[in-house]
Amino acid sequence: MVDDKPRYRAWFESLANPAERHPLDEVVYTDAEGGLLQVVHDMDELRKTPGAEWKALFEERAHKNSWPYGSGVWGKKEWVLPEIDNENVVSMYEGHTNLFWAERYGRELGLDDLWLKLCGNTHTGSFKDLGMTVLVSMVKEMIARGKPVRAVACASTGDTSAALAAYAAGAGIPAIVFLPRGKISLAQLIQPVANGAIVFALDTDFDGCMEIVKQVAERDGIYLANSMNSLRIEGQKTVGIEIVQQFDWEVPDWIVIPGGNLGNVSALAKGFDMMLELGLVSRRPRIVCAQAEQANPLYLAYQRDFRVFEPIAARPTLASAIQIGNPVSYRKAVDAIQRFDGIVEQASESELAEACAHADRTGLFNCPHTGVALAVTRKLVDDGRIKPSDRVVVISTAHGLKFVDFKVRYHNMELEGIQSELPNPPIELPADYERVRDTMLREIERRFGA
Ligand SMILES: *Cc1c(COP(=O)(O)O)cnc(C)c1O
Repeated sequence: MVDDKPRYRAWFESLANPAERHPLDEVVYTDAEGGLLQVVHDMDELRKTPGAEWKALFEERAHKNSWPYGSGVWGKKEWVLPEIDNENVVSMYEGHTNLFWAERYGRELGLDDLWLKLCGNTHTGSFKDLGMTVLVSMVKEMIARGKPVRAVACASTGDTSAALAAYAAGAGIPAIVFLPRGKISLAQLIQPVANGAIVFALDTDFDGCMEIVKQVAERDGIYLANSMNSLRIEGQKTVGIEIVQQFDWEVPDWIVIPGGNLGNVSALAKGFDMMLELGLVSRRPRIVCAQAEQANPLYLAYQRDFRVFEPIAARPTLASAIQIGNPVSYRKAVDAIQRFDGIVEQASESELAEACAHADRTGLFNCPHTGVALAVTRKLVDDGRIKPSDRVVVISTAHGLKFVDFKVRYHNMELEGIQSELPNPPIELPADYERVRDTMLREIERRFGA
């Protein structure tokens, strides 16, 4: 039914002016007016395959290893990047991350049907792998087609650079990353360092790094890997498809996702749009975009019904990967929120830290961005917008192990302005049986009752 001949086609198209199109191997990130491009697929051709057949194909590939279809992204290649040669795909078998029922945490929040989609359980520990496999594959294909690409670069709040560095290193393509000095976790910093990227730690914030990377992309023949480059969205959009697939093609009521540059929330919506258009599902979930109060430009705009948008200077937040004041994908995100009957809600530093700690106590191990989504979920349950019986999926965007510094400080009660309601520092004692026993029995009693 589906073969490798590129019968399916996709191209860049201007959001504002559909007449403006570019091939996907052209070095172009914005339209003639400076607006964002999106990748558009030949839907007429895709529609010739019935929804049920797409489902069967995706499921069949998910259990096989034939290159590159065993990847959660490339298993949907016809919907993602149909024209690329399989030889040029750069994949670390990303995707197919676990979606599980957070029974105990849900119950404590008052939800019967709360699920976590652990996008951090992947090669570099965040969902950024989903998009980066597509972008770096396209770059490899461009180089194979003789296009002049010197290197690939990104500005990052930590996870994009980790993903870029790993995929570029896998393909032998030079990678350059611009990081805001002192504003990312140690694990995130060491990832591109270890993978051999050229790593710049600049005295600025993410938005400042973005300005620099745009200049090198414009002037120095460096290919831009930020989500301004809509190729990444094509990979990231598979997350929604995967969630529905994992629910045997049932659509949940809500999906809660943390948002910074807002590419991911746009991608989530795009995956659902394609499933609807191609007959795999018949309804939309409601989407909640969760922002840190310290970096909340979308939330502020939502408060004013999106009539005005003002970039802000993002203030420091524990959710450092979403400390962004001027989100590149603002327009696409507004469109997604409006079409998916969405909500934008925010969480304070204390709310996100306590939500993380509370959820961790039930066996999770959350990054602070997931903490923002969990805190927002709790608010929506408490004020009745989410009903106790609703099926809710929280997208966990990165692995908690990338953010141990945050957790150590929480449990040592060293986070400024945060109470640490659930601290659990290790108990330091001499190796003396009786003292250990007395303390142990007292702690069992204190924590779990008699
Ligand atoms: C990048 C990132 C986000 C935000 O995604 P956007 O597409 O920028 O909105 C959230 N959480 C983590 C862990 C990230 O790395």
